[in-house]
Amino acid sequence: MITNRRNFIYLLSGGTAAAFFGSDTNFSWATSATAPVATPDVFKLPPLTYDYNALEPHIDAATMKFHHDKHHATYVKNLNGAVNKYPQLKTKTVEELLKNISKLPKDIQTVVRNNAGGHLNHSMYWQIMGPKGGGAPTGEIATAIKTQFGSFDAFKTQFNEAGTKLFGSGWVWLVREKSQLKIITTINQDSPISQGLYPIMGNDVWEHAYYLNYQNRRPDYLSAWWNVVNWTEVDRRFAKSLKA
Ligand code: MN
Repeated sequence: MITNRRNFIYLLSGGTAAAFFGSDTNFSWATSATAPVATPDVFKLPPLTYDYNALEPHIDAATMKFHHDKHHATYVKNLNGAVNKYPQLKTKTVEELLKNISKLPKDIQTVVRNNAGGHLNHSMYWQIMGPKGGGAPTGEIATAIKTQFGSFDAFKTQFNEAGTKLFGSGWVWLVREKSQLKIITTINQDSPISQGLYPIMGNDVWEHAYYLNYQNRRPDYLSAWWNVVNWTEVDRRFAKSLKA
């Protein structure tokens, strides 16, 4: 009797268990790393909410098209490839993945770091820019910048210097750490949230973000970029950071 019971449990835990449940396709199995079944991708490329040429002359249409449709799309594709190997990770948000890189399976840690980072960073980047952008900040973020940096101009100068000095590819950020605002840089597609910092705004200083229009003149791109900043969205992110 005990043997039969063991056999029954053994069968339940194996691939033939479906037979016991007839054709109930709603029955949910724990997924495994080697699940051979193709599952739909969970991460999607967010559409641009304005035209490719909407940020001209500061950012040209060709750069926007390649940057969004090719570069960002590739980060999304590679991120999906990584989590499709471990379907139990598909319920995690991009933020959850980036806050727990060291807990992920070893073989996908670097892929997730680069591509979840690339996906999150770019999703923010498209939103904090816009066709009617530029000018001085508004709302609570304006006050916070003035308090922390003395003036908006002083803040811009520090931000641009940090972005200019960053060697190679990466991002320059305004982040919140506890009650302080700070300017930091990260290399590659590293996200501030992996360091426990909330990214309020960030500029992409990879060459793919500016090379078609500015070639080697990264400082010119950094200066021009302020003309397309969507301060309404930055202020919204600042408010969100205070609740995080
Ligand atoms: Mn980029």
